[in-house]
Amino acid sequence: MVAIKRVIDYAVKIRVKPDKSGVETSNVKMSMNPFCEIALEEALRIKESGRASEVVAVSAGPAQCVDTLRTGLAMGADRAIHVEFPGTLYPLSIAKILKALVDAEKPGLLLLGKQAIDDDCNQTGQMIAGLLKWPQGTFASKVVLDEENKVATVDREVDGGLETLCLDLPAVITTDLRLNQPRYATLPNIMKAKSKVIKKLTPQDLNVEIRSDLEVVQVTEPPKRKAGLILSSVDELIDKLKNEARVL
Ligand code: AMP
Repeated sequence: MVAIKRVIDYAVKIRVKPDKSGVETSNVKMSMNPFCEIALEEALRIKESGRASEVVAVSAGPAQCVDTLRTGLAMGADRAIHVEFPGTLYPLSIAKILKALVDAEKPGLLLLGKQAIDDDCNQTGQMIAGLLKWPQGTFASKVVLDEENKVATVDREVDGGLETLCLDLPAVITTDLRLNQPRYATLPNIMKAKSKVIKKLTPQDLNVEIRSDLEVVQVTEPPKRKAGLILSSVDELIDKLKNEARVL
């Protein structure tokens, strides 16, 4: 199972709403979160290597999440589940929704992006692993599954280099940038995806109560950075570091 989130496209310049209640999302291009594309690509490769029988893409959020799920189906997912909720969903609510879906679907592996590029929370994978009491391998840059022994070997990108973990399956894995290069959906697959099934559910169907423990007080743009300077010599640089920045 792969959790995919619909976010503002990475190439869009984010604008804060005039009333500072959030960022502008109307008439803005939305796409699949890039780390979720990587998670889906990894799931597809696992299936193509014969180590999984099916890839199920799941997404929670407003009605338009269906477009993102269709993209996932066009990339190669077999079926999709949309948990429709019009309001804001924070990581703990998503983790509870995913837990209910895992309990129902019983996947052998749950893949997520390491973070969503809209809120940069980097929490959902860790929370769902905690709720499920499953082992977790976060920031994965390499995943090797051993079906026979029911273990996954995960290389993780950590501050000092790479850490290798051996996880008992089922497990939660969150994907980092260098894990793979996601495929593009081809036109025939986009056409085929139109007839694949997207099951619709609500949090109530899953007995999940959505509570918001967070309140967004205000969203503001970061302060504008001053333009840089091009210096003509090392002497000039040293002079500025000594007399202006006063760091030498
Ligand atoms: P976050 O903890 O918000 O940075 O998100 C990390 C990952 O959790 C994402 O890359 C997705 O795999 C998953 N996720 C977060 N929000 C959703 C959502 N609304 N629907 C499905 N998956 C989600």
